[in-house]
Amino acid sequence: MKSKRDSKSADAMRIALGSDHAGFELKKHLAAYLEESGHEVEDFGSFSAESVDYSDYGFKVAAAVGERKFDRGVLACRSGIGMSIAANKVRGVMAALCRDTESAKLSRRHNDSNVLVLAAGFTSEEEARHIVDIWLVTPFEGGRHSRRVGKISQFEEDRAERPRDVAVRPGASGGSEPWSFQPRAVREVDAELFRLMQLEKKRLAESLVLVASESIVETAILEATGNIFSPKYAEGYPGERLYPGCEVVDAVELLAIERAKQVFGADHVNVQPYSGTQANMAAYFALLRPGDKILSMRVEHGGHTTHGCDSNFSGRLYKPLRYGLKRDTELIDYDAIADIAEKEKPRLIIAGGSAYSRLIDFARFKAIADSCGSLLMVDMAHLSGLIAAGIHPSPVPFCDVATSTTHKTLKGPRGGLILCRRELADAIDEAVFPGTQGGPLVHVISAKALCFKLALRSEFREFHVQVVSNCKALAAELQRLGYRIVSGGTDTHLLVVDVRQKGIDGADAWQWLEEAGILVNKCAVPFDEAGPFGGIRVGPLSLTSRGMKEAEMATVAEFIHRVLRTGPDVSGLSRIRSAVREFCSGFGGY
Ligand code: PLP
Repeated sequence: MKSKRDSKSADAMRIALGSDHAGFELKKHLAAYLEESGHEVEDFGSFSAESVDYSDYGFKVAAAVGERKFDRGVLACRSGIGMSIAANKVRGVMAALCRDTESAKLSRRHNDSNVLVLAAGFTSEEEARHIVDIWLVTPFEGGRHSRRVGKISQFEEDRAERPRDVAVRPGASGGSEPWSFQPRAVREVDAELFRLMQLEKKRLAESLVLVASESIVETAILEATGNIFSPKYAEGYPGERLYPGCEVVDAVELLAIERAKQVFGADHVNVQPYSGTQANMAAYFALLRPGDKILSMRVEHGGHTTHGCDSNFSGRLYKPLRYGLKRDTELIDYDAIADIAEKEKPRLIIAGGSAYSRLIDFARFKAIADSCGSLLMVDMAHLSGLIAAGIHPSPVPFCDVATSTTHKTLKGPRGGLILCRRELADAIDEAVFPGTQGGPLVHVISAKALCFKLALRSEFREFHVQVVSNCKALAAELQRLGYRIVSGGTDTHLLVVDVRQKGIDGADAWQWLEEAGILVNKCAVPFDEAGPFGGIRVGPLSLTSRGMKEAEMATVAEFIHRVLRTGPDVSGLSRIRSAVREFCSGFGGY
């Protein structure tokens, strides 16, 4: 029931009304009275004197007020107690049970109540009208009461930020607490998007994410990624922009550059690439001409699409030559690289990839590149966090250019990064802008600055020591369960499991595992002629961010084994899904 008087008074409010059966008559009376007084009234029920549950109506009215769809709410039940308890469970609601005008006045002046609860069994219609009148016109006094009321609101906010089904654990994440992502402004303006964000949080909390490139990042990284710099145009570089008003963003970019230099010990850093692919594109643009030969690792042996695949610009613009692993050890075949390089004299040799689990000998790559006059580029997209932590040897002393993502093991925002020798600085910068990109994403650069700061901390190193240790534990446990690990094991944050050797296709394994809430990548196994996906790539970066250690890796391996034995049996996978969910509930999330 909605109504407006022709001439609404200045103090007219939007008022939500509700009652149970015992308060029905009083609410009906007040609805008419409030409408008559010029307020906009909506009656949320109940709509008869038939017995109902007060909580149902208390929640409806409280939610409408808590979500600020209404200015105030008025509730009635026999004693007013049940309604008050129900309404006060709802976020943003201060419900006050008032049986006289004095308490109504105080509930406004001192407590800033926004829901008035009336006791229909003890309050006459006339008393109720007086109480409502006083309550509606009395202002909140503020002052010391603001502080007290503020503490209640803060308490409520803090609780709302931690989903009850996710246990809070200080993760070995190398920085501030990562477990409280709560986009308040989004919640205010877009309930649907907010709901999807909550769903993603739940998905992450309930799954074993073993995608080697995905981690849980600090809340500070999420905040820095979407911020005041987002709309700013800043084409160019610090001190030489094509837009005005860049003095602050100059400082941000310089901060990111200086910190990245410190992290990696590089001569020159470009922090503008939008992604790893953009970083590679810019590096090629700076170093190569169309048709030049590039020598890189086969994708089936762990290389990346942007290193010369037919389907990628790199394979169309340049002439790709391939190297790979040795058949017996599945380690990089440096002798073969040297032979190909000697014969073909590629302009560029690329080291690094997406699925190679062993240490890479950058000094050896450098020697090969030097021997045939090639340039050396290292794509350290997967390894950059380990390199920053000093766990994997650095390519910087050996390569001409190193490219990276900032969102994998570096645990920063989605983005790219280029390091290079001083002599190549101008070529690289020009290749990024204006060569292959437009205005930089200054907000993302600000988050990169933060990520480099976090990467300099001792906690970051400790975190990655744990990642590699977890990865080794996972490999050992899978081997114990009878699985063959490609390259004989791992020295890094990832490993490849050969599932075809168990008569399973990697693509099937990938799907069954996803059904059970275990997320991995399907991938190739070197020298496998039977099909493109003989294996799965797994990595414990995300699980380590949630505080898991070697003991948990044994459980995770056991889960994988159970799934692969279960196969496509839907009910079997669903039972494992429940067990995975239960296991995950003991660890933190966003
Ligand atoms: N280089 C390597 C080695 C990668 O693994 C990836 C991403 O998987 C990229 C480049 C591309 O990064 P992005 O997805 O940011 O474009």
